[in-house]
Amino acid sequence: MEKMNKKQAEEKINEFFEKKHDKEEVRKIKKVAMKYRIKLKDSRKKFCSKCFSMNLKFRKVKSNIKTVECSECGNLMRWKLK
Ligand SMILES: [Zn+2]
Repeated sequence: MEKMNKKQAEEKINEFFEKKHDKEEVRKIKKVAMKYRIKLKDSRKKFCSKCFSMNLKFRKVKSNIKTVECSECGNLMRWKLK
């Protein structure tokens, strides 16, 4: 994983978020993204910002704000819909 260029790292990250992974893996891929200064963009919404779990539950949409709850730690995340 050490000798990737930015494009390879980006591809790896995109591929990663197509499937579910456990927290440890999410934490690792986040480190890779940071190292290569890659913005996670929408992939950021696929895991909990607190515990990195990908087990998110959809809660509601209100005033164009989507609320999602983490199944593992109960953290609530809100994203503006476009
Ligand atoms: Zn969580």
